[in-house]
Amino acid sequence: MIPALEELIEFLRLFPGIGEKSARRMAFYLLKLSPDKLDTFAESVLAVKSITKCPRCGMFTQEDLCEYCRSSHRERSTICVVEEVQDVQAIEQTGIYKGLYHILGGHISPVDGIFLPDLNISSLFERIDASVREVIVATNPTLEGEATANYLIEQLRSFPVKITRLATGLPIGGDLSILSPITVRNSLQNRKDQ
Ligand SMILES: [Zn+2]
Repeated sequence: MIPALEELIEFLRLFPGIGEKSARRMAFYLLKLSPDKLDTFAESVLAVKSITKCPRCGMFTQEDLCEYCRSSHRERSTICVVEEVQDVQAIEQTGIYKGLYHILGGHISPVDGIFLPDLNISSLFERIDASVREVIVATNPTLEGEATANYLIEQLRSFPVKITRLATGLPIGGDLSILSPITVRNSLQNRKDQ
């Protein structure tokens, strides 16, 4: 096998859900592309290096602040706390949420070696000022998500904000990003005071 091709296949195998067979198929597809297309592909991969995390909320961005923190159309009185960036997409798809976000970057999971200092939590407490009236805890309906939510709610009680949580009834074990927009919208609309 040609070393360059072998190296490419090894790399493609690192992608989630991509096995040896799929990686080979993708590599051979790339071999068929024109030099121009390959350049465009390589440039879009390199452009990923310019994406950083918003220092305020943890969302991905290519600017100083993310699109939500920069926007003058978002309600600054509400912060919705989610585990991952893809959960923001799930909330946005409901079309009813106009507030800001805070992305934890995961959940507490001692088994996987993920503890509080590994999460984007202290920056959440730092951004709760007089303009913030409600914090919605929207972690995933999993055991780890529940544990993370319980810890967060406990800590948030020392702040003068209303704390709410997505309504129960979400399928246990599912991530927000794989639930239907209607399910997420219902749980958001029927969120409960904590
Ligand atoms: Zn942001």
